[in-house]
Formats: sequence, C-alpha cells, structure tokens
Amino acid sequence: MSIVIVHGGVETSSSLQFREVLRAAALAGHGALEAGLLDAAEEAVKILEESPLFNAGYGSVLNRDGDVEMDASIMDGTTGKFGAVAAIRSVSHPVSVARLVLEETPHVLLAGQGATDFALTRGFLPVDSRSPGMVETWQRARDRAKQGLSQETSPFTGLPPDSAKPCDTVGCVVFHDGRLAAASSTGGSFMKIPGRVGDTPIPGAGIFASPNCATACTGLGEAFIETLTANYVDSLVKKGLHPQEAAEKAMARLGERRAGAVGGIIVADHQGRFGAAHNSRSFPVALLVKGGLSESFIPRKLN
Ligand code: ASP
Repeated sequence: MSIVIVHGGVETSSSLQFREVLRAAALAGHGALEAGLLDAAEEAVKILEESPLFNAGYGSVLNRDGDVEMDASIMDGTTGKFGAVAAIRSVSHPVSVARLVLEETPHVLLAGQGATDFALTRGFLPVDSRSPGMVETWQRARDRAKQGLSQETSPFTGLPPDSAKPCDTVGCVVFHDGRLAAASSTGGSFMKIPGRVGDTPIPGAGIFASPNCATACTGLGEAFIETLTANYVDSLVKKGLHPQEAAEKAMARLGERRAGAVGGIIVADHQGRFGAAHNSRSFPVALLVKGGLSESFIPRKLN
C-alpha cells in the first residue's frame, strides 16, 4: 500500500489552478515510488518548486533586499538520514540539492553561499528564481513602505490577505509498504532579513520522518522551531495517537505556545494512517492512496 500527501502551504489558495498542480505533484510522487521513497518525495516537491504559484523554487517570496533565498529538506524515515539546504540562491530545485547533501556529503545542512556553490559545482544550472509576480509584489511593498504607507500583507505570501493568488511553502509525506519519508521546500517569509532561516531545514521543527511517522509543516517558521512541532507529532504518534489526532493536538499546542502563530501539518504513520490540520484561512492538500487521488480529504481547520 502507498500514500502520497502533498500540501501547498498555509494561506494558499484552494482554487482549481492550485489544486491541479498539487494533484500533478502527488501523481509525480506516486510515479516515482518504484525508484524509492526519497524519489517520490523529491519528485512531488520538484513539481511545486517549478510552479510560480507556490512559495518554493520559482514562486519564492523575496527577502528584504529583493532576493530569493530558499530552504529545503528531505528525510528518510527508515534510516533517519536527513539532508537540507538553507538560504540557498539561484537553483531551481533546492529539494534536489538537499537530497544530494543527504546522499553525497558527510553533512546534514549546507547554508548560504556554501550551499549555492555546492549545487553549482554538482551541475545545477544557475537560474533567476524571482518570478515576475513576486518581483512586483516586493516592489509594491517597498514603494508603500518608502511612502510611509502600511499595507497589510501576509508574511507567508507577501500578498494582501484577500489576494486572489496567495501561495506558500510546500511539503510532502510518503508511505510505502510500512516505510516513510518527508520533504519540504520554501522561499521562507516575505521581506525576511537576508540570511534568515525558517523551520523547513530544521529536523524536528518543520519536518521529521522516523520508522514511526513522517511529518511536514508550514506556517510561522520561528514558532515551529521553538516548539519543535514535527518532533512533537512524532512523539504523539509513538504514544499511539492517530495521525489526525496528533496533527490537531500539535496545532493546538502551537497556538497555545505562540499566540497568533499560523500553521498547517500533514502526517502519515507506519500503519498507513494519515492526518492533516491547520489554523489558517486555507491549506490545500492532495492525497493519493494506492495510486488513486482522493477528492474527499480535507484538512481539519482549528480555530
Ligand atoms: N515555514 C516557512 C518558514 O517559516 C514558511 C511557511 O511555511 O509558511 O520559512
């Protein structure tokens, strides 16, 4: 039996356009399962990194200086092996660089210029990750700030909250024959100080995979780091909670510990059970079970 769950981030639109890319990502993940769980998780995330719709890869939000700096990670639940990149620039697939870190270096996390140089020396072609839409969003926010005008924008998307095209971090969890993996990728938070790193490349914070369960998170990275939420989900499932209960409990705990922290979580466990919860306006998820897409799975929204 196999399960692929893909999320498009908190505050991401659930409109058809977004759902279709998420579905394509879940199908790509499933198609790669034969090669391995890491292949499945990586391929699913790559589809989302290529889309300008999501805050990852080509759709990444810009930092304070108008540049894209991305975080990504991948984890094998069976071996506990982890690979990540932080504040990497100019690559189209940070998740694939994270996988190279996992498989071909003695390290678990490469950051900044070192991560970018590593990717370029390994054959990744330099790309401009700034999509026209995100450049426009950044320019508008900067111009308003210069004029002393405030504009309410989402820290996740850089867009006004009622924007027709919100977007955010992406993630994937995969279950296959009792084994688990997770991957995640993000442009981080809009207007962040250059060098800021979120929860996505921190194991136990925004991502975790063990023989027990696989978790991918999205939302206010600082809150996920301080609460080690992905690790908390793992501990709850280990205690016997259903992944749905674990996701809900972890979201409630996040809200208690960091007032106002917005987030979303997807989880799959070693028995092939799964769950998802969030406290944002929307959190689109595509679920594929045994090769068939399920239209009826909707993450539980908590207040
Ligand atoms: N967690 C990501 C970060 O803080 C952003 C997000 O998922 O919304 O970098």
